[in-house]
Amino acid sequence: MRSLVVVFVATIGTLLAACNAPTGSTEQKAATTAKLYVFDCGTLKADPARFRLKPEEVSTTDLSVPCFLIVHPRGTLLWDVGAVPDGDWIPTGGPVTHHLELPDGSSRDLTLRKRLAAQLSEAGYRASDITYLAFSHYHYDHTANANAFASSTWLARQVERDAMFADKPPGVVQPAFYAALKTSKTVILKDDEYDVFGDGSVILKLAPGHTPGHQVLYVRLPRTGGVVLSGDLYHFPEARALKRVTLFDFDQAQTAVSREAIEAFLTKTGAQLWIQHDAVGNSRLKKAPEYYE
Ligand SMILES: [Zn+2]
Repeated sequence: MRSLVVVFVATIGTLLAACNAPTGSTEQKAATTAKLYVFDCGTLKADPARFRLKPEEVSTTDLSVPCFLIVHPRGTLLWDVGAVPDGDWIPTGGPVTHHLELPDGSSRDLTLRKRLAAQLSEAGYRASDITYLAFSHYHYDHTANANAFASSTWLARQVERDAMFADKPPGVVQPAFYAALKTSKTVILKDDEYDVFGDGSVILKLAPGHTPGHQVLYVRLPRTGGVVLSGDLYHFPEARALKRVTLFDFDQAQTAVSREAIEAFLTKTGAQLWIQHDAVGNSRLKKAPEYYE
């Protein structure tokens, strides 16, 4: 009888180990199958003076506008969705110049090449495949295609959402771009860090200053290692080197504090910083349907 009990206990032990094993191997699978796609959502003509930089201090006055997709075994996350909605321009197969009027009376000139939906499709995804949607911040050049992802779960900071749906949203916001998100399933992020898939590999990190709830995205990939997608913590690599804070930041002192915190995080983790608007750095990145893993 005793030996039977021992066998039974041993069997339960084996079963428990077996039950634990899939969780462990799922973690491993999670780590080996996460992918990061970079999409070309256009190029913006910029005036370096708005970033406290002289034309001779920057290698280009172009700002890239990338969008990113993270594919994880537990879901997908789309991070920033461009400056011009897909439906507002007609692709030609070549570069298309586009003039954008903003609600504050200013305007921007962009070059567009391929719609976000077409790039997603080439990577094998439709809008309905996107589990989570998140923006670095509410400005027009990060939210343009938001309405297309209204059925995804929006991961939002309360202060950003409040500004977006205020009676008078801030000037460089384009409320028509994201109106459909008002009724989207929304998770309000209460902590500075939000672990999107629960395994520490994809983390939204609050880095306020550019806007009140500005955030960056940390992605840990098995081959590439750690990458921080900057949002608009910096626009130009020269702003990072010369420590110039953007003139139109919501709170410039707070930007400086956030930059120090993120720089310390980069040093601690060894992660790379991808400055999203850095046209030179962005031009060197693999674009979808290729991906980082
Ligand atoms: Zn921006």
